[in-house]
Amino acid sequence: MAEENASGGTVVTAPTCGSCGVVPAVLRYLKEELKCPDTEIYYALAVAGIVGNTAKHNASISGAEVGCQGEIGVACAMAAAAAAQLMGGTETQIEYAAEVGLEHFLGLTCDPVMGLVQIPCIERNALAANKAIISAEYVLLTDGRHRVSFDDVVKAMRQTGHDLPDLYRETGTGGLASIVQDPSQKASSKK
Ligand code: SF4
Repeated sequence: MAEENASGGTVVTAPTCGSCGVVPAVLRYLKEELKCPDTEIYYALAVAGIVGNTAKHNASISGAEVGCQGEIGVACAMAAAAAAQLMGGTETQIEYAAEVGLEHFLGLTCDPVMGLVQIPCIERNALAANKAIISAEYVLLTDGRHRVSFDDVVKAMRQTGHDLPDLYRETGTGGLASIVQDPSQKASSKK
């Protein structure tokens, strides 16, 4: 999905173009692993949608507003909640999975190399899908009680995003984007 987006193809922006690979990767994996019928996948998608909408309305899902935590972080939270639902989690465990999925992406900057949604975006999708599964598996080992709520972590994401300097918010001028150069420009600067 992430490669399809990076090559200008058609994707479902759930939650965004740059982070569109996380939810489908997790749902496809669990459909194959757990042999879930389509109806259960639809319910899991609804759960993911609630999580994504909560983040969108109470903070942001835009890399330009809050950095990559709002894209890959929210995608991970959505996928983690969907995975917890498919694995048989309670409502509390599902909310906890969303919280864990986002919390550990807090502060993640948006720094696409050359302004393209390829590096670091494609790998971030794969790693966030992995983290979503692990978040769900982790919370299912607990009774669901936790100190930090999903609402808390969404508030923290909003505050952190607003505190980030502009160059870490989809400008393609900070972080990796400022370090990793276009190879053709490197070659011409050597001449
Ligand atoms: S680095 Fe920026 S463009 Fe890439 S997925 Fe994250 S928010 Fe989107």
